[in-house]
Amino acid sequence: MQFKSTQSNKVVVSFKDAILRCLPQEGGLYVPASVMDLRQFFLYMDTDTAYPELVATVAPPLLQGELNPFSASRVAQSAFAFEPEIQQLDERFSLLSLYKGPTGIFKDFGIAFLAAVMEELLKNNSRGMVLSATRGDTGVSIAHAFYQRQNILSCLLYPSGPIRGLDPSTFVPQGGNIIPIQVRGTFDDCQRLVIEAIKDKPFAERYGISTANALNPGRLLPQAFYYLYAFIKLKKQLKGDLLFSVPCGNFGNLIAGLYAWKFGMPVRGFIAAMNANNAFGGFLKGEAFKPQQVISTVSPALDVSVPSNYERLLSFYEEAPAVMRNMVFPATIDDRTTLGIMDKVWKQYGILLDPHGAVAFAAADRIMASHDLSSGDAHVVVLATGHPAREAESVSKATGQTISIPPRLGILRKKTDPIALIKPHLDALEGAIASCI
Ligand SMILES: *Cc1c(COP(=O)(O)O)cnc(C)c1O
Repeated sequence: MQFKSTQSNKVVVSFKDAILRCLPQEGGLYVPASVMDLRQFFLYMDTDTAYPELVATVAPPLLQGELNPFSASRVAQSAFAFEPEIQQLDERFSLLSLYKGPTGIFKDFGIAFLAAVMEELLKNNSRGMVLSATRGDTGVSIAHAFYQRQNILSCLLYPSGPIRGLDPSTFVPQGGNIIPIQVRGTFDDCQRLVIEAIKDKPFAERYGISTANALNPGRLLPQAFYYLYAFIKLKKQLKGDLLFSVPCGNFGNLIAGLYAWKFGMPVRGFIAAMNANNAFGGFLKGEAFKPQQVISTVSPALDVSVPSNYERLLSFYEEAPAVMRNMVFPATIDDRTTLGIMDKVWKQYGILLDPHGAVAFAAADRIMASHDLSSGDAHVVVLATGHPAREAESVSKATGQTISIPPRLGILRKKTDPIALIKPHLDALEGAIASCI
């Protein structure tokens, strides 16, 4: 599979170049230049196929010779000690739980694959450095996935404030490969530094700089695999249309679902579940996008004003606007409804949802009740993207249950010190990196 920029069809690059360089020189973001039909590889898979097996089977044809079956199998095994979990609740709903990874959020899936595939692709090469901006939990996921990867250093840029959840014994001075650096500034300053470093050729080439932020298409693409996984597990039971309900913040997860559809997964559509930050809903229906002020809600990962995947989604819509409008159903869920559905799902199915999964569940509930889909035997797979223990307070408040925190998630709250504290400038970053490696 080759990649092109969202802003130009002229230049195409390999998967390896797209994930190691991350940003097209022409501007924009990398997206697949053409899409593969993978049906022959997954359509007839056994319902008891394990997740790493599915990944190892579809990745080689998808990456067309850039990853041979042996490499793909190694990548899948080393990335996925955890699996998605699919539970059919009744005729209408299934739950796809994506929070069984090390940090309890679905982002672990894309990041784990990216780390393993980078290690594989850099095997006989020089070193690489993954430079990522983070506010917190994504940083822990990145540190976890990249720890002890051969030939790779992982540098994390944090804005002012406490840094939590990292293990100092994994840091470079202690013989590890993780470099946490605190930037005197905001998260946007950190993100700007990542982009500047990638664009600064001498710097980027000296260290082999790429990123594990969502800019990197190597994080987005593997998220399509769990949609295929849900499909093969459920296909025998499906009597009618299949839909997925996805809680949307930066819209990466939704885009990954659209890739799965492009790979040939038979699906009627996707519910784009949003909280009060729903400025993107109009765009999904064909209107111009007007960003709005961020509103704080009980589902904080969805509190986004301008989704970072805007350009990628725009390129889908430009290719086939009518198809997209027929396949993506926006729904806005307020906090009261979110907390209400958490209680309802607990009482009805004995399942605790985190508020993000609850937004998706409430949206699914609403769309299923609407007249245009209630005909036939439609079935919705709701994506539970976060572990309920991560939002224990809201979950408790909504359901009256006491939530126990698994040890691996308890660690996420522990503070650590950075290796360096810098001004928000590229030369300060260069200096900090040079002095610790
Ligand atoms: C990041 C996140 C989301 C939003 O996913 P996007 O790909 O940004 O749309 C939803 N739920 C949880 C728990 C998250 O951490």
